[in-house]
Amino acid sequence: MIICGSVREIRETSRAVRREGRKIALVPTMGYLHEGHVSLVRKANNRADFVVVSIFVNPTQFGPEEDFDRYPRDFERDRVICEEARVDALFCPQVEEIYPRGYSTFVEIEGRIVDTLCGARRPGHFRGVATVVSKLFLAVEPDIAVFGQKDAQQCAVIKKMTRDLDFPVEIVVSPIVREKDGLAMSSRNKYLDPGERQAAPLIKKGLDLASKAFGGGERSPAKLKQAALAEIGRSALLKPDYLEIVDCGTLEPLETLSGKRPALLAAAVFCGKTRLIDNIILGAQNGN
Ligand code: AMP
Repeated sequence: MIICGSVREIRETSRAVRREGRKIALVPTMGYLHEGHVSLVRKANNRADFVVVSIFVNPTQFGPEEDFDRYPRDFERDRVICEEARVDALFCPQVEEIYPRGYSTFVEIEGRIVDTLCGARRPGHFRGVATVVSKLFLAVEPDIAVFGQKDAQQCAVIKKMTRDLDFPVEIVVSPIVREKDGLAMSSRNKYLDPGERQAAPLIKKGLDLASKAFGGGERSPAKLKQAALAEIGRSALLKPDYLEIVDCGTLEPLETLSGKRPALLAAAVFCGKTRLIDNIILGAQNGN
């Protein structure tokens, strides 16, 4: 596995691979890798000949009161996981490599797709995400990039940005990987104390209850949300930040559900001080 710390190195590596006619996949991450990340690497390996994983805790996507400083980091552990997952190149730049002194160019997406859900609660978050993903696309020049459905809004935003800016990259979305009790895997689960960890699976249980009601014919978004919130409300440790039903692609709120267009039930819930996100697609075979 090649380890690159600079844009120049990863670009040279990637261009050499491309000259051999091999297909390149990029899996962007913030590190502290878990099975969810490994599933993206597996998908990347199935779809391409050369897999690049980036590990970069991107400061521009964190708000001033958020957890950038204490975000878990363990490069050695991540390196071993990547070796075992048959990653070909690891791109792990320092902050100054991506944002050198005086850096002042950002990619900003406008409209509903960033004004709702996490975008509404984390001002500037998707500007930071779009900027760093654009820089990664330009550094690695991948044929495909793999993202997790866990961050459903991020997937929608990246797809839109890729279309709008004509990046020649195919965006592949991979299903959510969960713990046995249903909790979506996340690097931030490390923050949970034992009591919080025990309460956290209620988020998925709530989404599942709504999904079951949808399967049983319930089409009122208000009633479906109520079902999910009642379950999540069973623990006093859980405080919903939002729980919304939106169109999967545009993220427009849905007042009624036809059952024809896929709808996304997305939630962000504070578990103690830790903000967890999760979602399910209503009516999908595998809503995940
Ligand atoms: P992160 O390191 O949290 O920024 O995540 C990097 C990528 O892994 C993103 O595309 C996430 O959506 C994806 N990811 C994170 N957790 C999971 C999970 N539990 N299942 C599937 N993909 C995930």
